[in-house]
Amino acid sequence: MSTLRDEFRDWLNDNLKGEYECLRWRGMPGDDEAYPELRKIWEAKLGEAGWIGLDWPSEYGGRGASDADIIELAEEYAEHGGPGRCGHIGETLLAPTLLAYGTKEQQDKYLPGIKNGTEFWCQGYSEPGAGSDLANVKTKARLENGEWIIDGQKIWTSLALESDYIFVVARAEPGSVGNKGLVFLLVKLDQPGVDIRPIKQMSGSSEFNEVYFTEAKCAEGDIVGKVGDGWRVAMALLAFERGTSTIGQQMTFKNELNAVIKLAKQNGAANDPLIRTRIAKAYTELQIMKFGFRRTLSSDQMSGADFTSKIFWSTWHRNLGELAADVMGASAEIINEGEFSALQKLFLYSRADTIYGGTNQIQRNIIAERALGMPREPRGGQMVTKG
Ligand SMILES: Cc1cc2nc3c(=O)[nH]c(=O)nc-3n(C[C@H](O)[C@H](O)[C@H](O)COP(=O)(O)OP(=O)(O)OC[C@H]3O[C@@H](n4cnc5c(N)ncnc54)[C@H](O)[C@@H]3O)c2cc1C
Repeated sequence: MSTLRDEFRDWLNDNLKGEYECLRWRGMPGDDEAYPELRKIWEAKLGEAGWIGLDWPSEYGGRGASDADIIELAEEYAEHGGPGRCGHIGETLLAPTLLAYGTKEQQDKYLPGIKNGTEFWCQGYSEPGAGSDLANVKTKARLENGEWIIDGQKIWTSLALESDYIFVVARAEPGSVGNKGLVFLLVKLDQPGVDIRPIKQMSGSSEFNEVYFTEAKCAEGDIVGKVGDGWRVAMALLAFERGTSTIGQQMTFKNELNAVIKLAKQNGAANDPLIRTRIAKAYTELQIMKFGFRRTLSSDQMSGADFTSKIFWSTWHRNLGELAADVMGASAEIINEGEFSALQKLFLYSRADTIYGGTNQIQRNIIAERALGMPREPRGGQMVTKG
């Protein structure tokens, strides 16, 4: 019996070639600026063939894919060197949130563009004073003549320049503080009130940006949930970000580890007992990560262990970046022909994994409070009393 995975393998063999051959192994995090236009065309090709949103409800074109199917398809894609997906924020973050909290109108309006691979989204959460402390957002939204008017600034907005829309967490109740009075809005980027300024990163790319809103607008109906629900919706989306959204990314880890092992064998680093130990450890932990993922997805109930996923994979990946640099040796510090190599990019970008989507320190707080039931840490403005 033919499975979705077999079908996908055949499709990739037939399509990831010719003019798309150059996309193989490109466009992963840290290499986001590789072939942006061609990768968008590739995204539409995936959409046209029905390879986006396979686990969505059938009325939105889902194909009844199980969680296990989604893992297998991601594995297959990675094995073929499928390019980094420019539609992943829409498909894996916004779409599940709209399916859970959006209205029928919002689902009808926004899901098809994501499904077809023709409309791209970015995430407007962080601000200069609101990263780990996201509840401190200062961007304001007010309802005027049937439209939301937005003023403020977001920062570290990945792929904003390549996107059509942004979901924005903003403060709608004047005088509200913390996680109260927030809204979650769906905003078109191509409008006079939005100014996107790229930020140059140490890897040489500008994957993220500042986004300024000056009387930017969206329709009254482009609010997910009600006024005051913004925090609940934003947290639900973050749970997808820290959980299943990174399946595709994690499936590429095996390729990266294999590249490190190949180089270690070539340049003799594999003869160093300490390097061998680190490689064996990386391999073992990768297997643990894979089984942990399957366990999480096979259960309907969140368990304490599920809170450890983000810190585990991001720390593993950062360690792999360090291992790659040590295997490269002195050559890690030399740039050939003005371009970082794939392993140099791995080292540089993996420094960010333990920051975005919630830093390691914040993940530890979450594990302490939600998984282990320890007392909540004092929040800003609260007195710390000695007991
Ligand atoms: C590559 C990359 C892509 C990103 N993409 C996006 C995006 O698309 N959209 C978006 O909205 N944001 C994005 N971000 C932003 C990211 O979510 C924030 O950087 C992150 O939440 C940390 O916030 P901050 O940078 O303001 O650091 P801060 O919150 O200022 O933290 C600084 C340090 O203090 C520590 N700290 C803070 N509070 C606590 C505490 N209570 N207990 C212990 N330690 C604490 C932190 O762990 C960190 O080490 C991205 C970041 C990166 C690196």
